[in-house]
Amino acid sequence: MAMTATNLLGFDLEGLVAYCEGLGEKRFRAVQLFRWIHQRGVADFALMSDLAKSLRDKLAQSAEVSALRVLSEQRSADGTIKWLFDVGNGDAVESVYIPEDDRATLCISSQAGCAVGCRFCSTGHQGFSRNLSTAEIVAQLWFVEHLLRGEGKARDQSGRVISNIVMMGMGEPLQNYAALVPALRTFLDDHGYGLSRRRVTVSTSGVVPMIDRLREDCPVALAVSLHAPDDALRDQLVPLNKKYPIAELLQSCQRYLEAAPRDFITFEYCMLDGVNDAPEQAEQLVKLLKGEVPCKLNLIPFNPFPASGLKRSPRERVLAFAEVLIRAGIVTTVRKTRGDDIDAACGQLAGEVQDRTRAEQRMTRAPVVVHRRPSS
Ligand code: SAH
Ligand code: SF4
Repeated sequence: MAMTATNLLGFDLEGLVAYCEGLGEKRFRAVQLFRWIHQRGVADFALMSDLAKSLRDKLAQSAEVSALRVLSEQRSADGTIKWLFDVGNGDAVESVYIPEDDRATLCISSQAGCAVGCRFCSTGHQGFSRNLSTAEIVAQLWFVEHLLRGEGKARDQSGRVISNIVMMGMGEPLQNYAALVPALRTFLDDHGYGLSRRRVTVSTSGVVPMIDRLREDCPVALAVSLHAPDDALRDQLVPLNKKYPIAELLQSCQRYLEAAPRDFITFEYCMLDGVNDAPEQAEQLVKLLKGEVPCKLNLIPFNPFPASGLKRSPRERVLAFAEVLIRAGIVTTVRKTRGDDIDAACGQLAGEVQDRTRAEQRMTRAPVVVHRRPSS
């Protein structure tokens, strides 16, 4: 194989069509190839029996279907599975498989590290290393889907395993927009994974201009990480708020709903003891959201990690907070914590990221500690 082999996991269908046209092949050949790769999980061109030998040879010269190297796999007693993937140069990212009665969700990473630097997030504490490519984003689903099919974990007649994708792993997906969109299209494509737009969720800390672009380019379900009822507190928890304050963020959510596959936005709210969990703050949140943005609230119990200096809100406090919202008519759920025994919960995905954020940038953030779990 040539040194510069193109990883075909990096193309959505239209991209693969263009690539195949460059090899002098018709569109339907690209469709066949796309189905071999994504629906059947085949990486070896020689096995793609309905492609002409000449095309298989051409592909073998110039292309590859290349998975990420698995550094570790951890299986929780509750069925949750977490993989750590090597993405080169000392960086690694994580994906988490979360089986439930009626669905199976894969939580996917979009970046090695994250530049947003949220106070309560282990990934944020590591700083930013680099964006993942489309191929590296898609490779997470490609690998897990076909691995677990091989283990007989298919959910139904369709033979498919993963029914839902959440872009809630490491990284801020809307700060890696160019790579994200072809990945989303591959998840949605009937010749790819055929997931419905309602079952693919992009979670963002609030990159307002990119929320608007996503609405135009590829509207999927949207989750917005709110975490505070006012700008003063949100500035501290989610530094991106200084650039895109709450009012602007909520306006972009309203615009998003015009094209969204669901008629509500999910707001995520990480419950931090004594920081954002007071009943008065719930009242403030009601004032902020009620009648403004059709939404659901998802309260996430904070998952502690050593360097955060923060604590999880006690259960009663979370329930009292939820009670205020529910009484005001806002649909509110408290997220179950899964995979506790393997540190697979939200915000605990630490990977192993070399912090390449420039030192002077780092200084502008609230106390930053580069946190690395002992390598396993
Ligand atoms: N960057 C995106 C998506 C990845 S984070 C975002 O911020 O939305 C996915 C979710 O996990 C976000 O809602 C985030 O706020 C939450 N989260 C981060 N750290 C957490 C922690 N330590 N405990 C609980 N939730 C956390
Ligand atoms: Fe980045 Fe999301 Fe973590 Fe904030 S919560 S640092 S945006 S990954």
